Amino acid sequence: MRWCSRAVTLTIIAIAMNNKEYISDEQTLDNAGIRVTAVRLLVWRQVRHGFSDAFSLADLEAALPTVDRSTLFRTLSTFTEAHLLHEIDDGTGSQKYCVCSARDTHHCEGHVHLTCIRCHRTYCLTDVRIPSVPLPEGWASTETEYVVKGICPACNREK
Ligand SMILES: [Zn+2]
Ligand SMILES: [Zn+2]
Ligand SMILES: [Zn+2]
Repeated sequence: MRWCSRAVTLTIIAIAMNNKEYISDEQTLDNAGIRVTAVRLLVWRQVRHGFSDAFSLADLEAALPTVDRSTLFRTLSTFTEAHLLHEIDDGTGSQKYCVCSARDTHHCEGHVHLTCIRCHRTYCLTDVRIPSVPLPEGWASTETEYVVKGICPACNREK
């Protein structure tokens, strides 16, 4: 009997590990060590399911007009510190955020970003790592951003 229930438990764990998309929004926050509140859950649902590419604070404000800007900003900072999001400086002048890839939340830093110079949308190329750059003597790197600028297929069709 005991054997049997252990086998069932192991099967459930295996299913959970193989199907990350079945982890609920609440569970994702909880796993990241974030206390779940109504506002955090609302913001997390929007950022996780509501944007197809990187988003700015202004995009989030437009999507959630009932939440004030400072709360949104603080919530984004909380998510970033917990490695649920990463920040992108894409050179467009507005800080962007992107949901960290679920498979590898703590190691998704260091990938290349792609920015369209017409519509200013930014995408993560999570499979393309930033090459390591040899620095001159005495330098220590604190962060690296690698942005490829171009014209996206949608803007290309419009011209
Ligand atoms: Zn990330
Ligand atoms: Zn574009
Ligand atoms: Zn990214």
